[in-house]
Amino acid sequence: MNIILLGPPGAGKGTQAHRLVAERGMVQLSTGDMLRAARTSGTEMGKQVAAVMDAGKLVTDEIVIGLIAEQLDSATDAGFIFDGFPRTLAQADALGELLESKGASLEAVVEMQVDDEALVARITGRFTCGECGEGYHDTFKTPAVENTCDNCGSVGSFKRRADDNEDALRTRLMAYYKDTSPLIGYYYAKNMLKRIDGLGEIDEVAGRISGALDG
Ligand code: AMP
Repeated sequence: MNIILLGPPGAGKGTQAHRLVAERGMVQLSTGDMLRAARTSGTEMGKQVAAVMDAGKLVTDEIVIGLIAEQLDSATDAGFIFDGFPRTLAQADALGELLESKGASLEAVVEMQVDDEALVARITGRFTCGECGEGYHDTFKTPAVENTCDNCGSVGSFKRRADDNEDALRTRLMAYYKDTSPLIGYYYAKNMLKRIDGLGEIDEVAGRISGALDG
């Protein structure tokens, strides 16, 4: 089953994608993670997108479609979770064509609904373990032992995203409403849209997603 997790920045797409990977063996394809990896490894493309990402703007369709196209050959029986992709109508069309060319299809698009105020609170306090990727938050989920990852035990490896600040977040939200939210109508018309409430505990939201996918 190939699915898209759709929602504004901070809706919890990455967190829920990790759950689906652990529980169902699906493969997460996050263009945000791919772009951050390109920056860390210092590739030409990584350098090209750095300023755009830090400002909270969208990287070109050509770059992100290329990144996804490279990944679609990886073997998966359980299916792909597209996380943070597509973000424009052009990307949505390209994804449909890419899947079709592999003899595959998209089964569901889960829209995670979270209001703006909650997004700001979630994003401005979040950080992750640089070793294992476990997510934390200054208010909602602090590590049991200060500066130590609950999951992998590494010390001093927490990091914050450069674009998780209020200015960049405002730009990211604008990009979501202007360029990405038209996808809601696009997938609704294709009868693929499942809307769920993205507010609440991680387990609760995970339950709603499972219900939407299996129901
Ligand atoms: P994310 O981790 O999904 O929040 O993405 C972080 C940043 O990477 C975004 O603010 C964009 O600058 C860029 N990005 C990630 N995915 C896309 C995409 N599908 N289209 C355009 N830009 C993207």
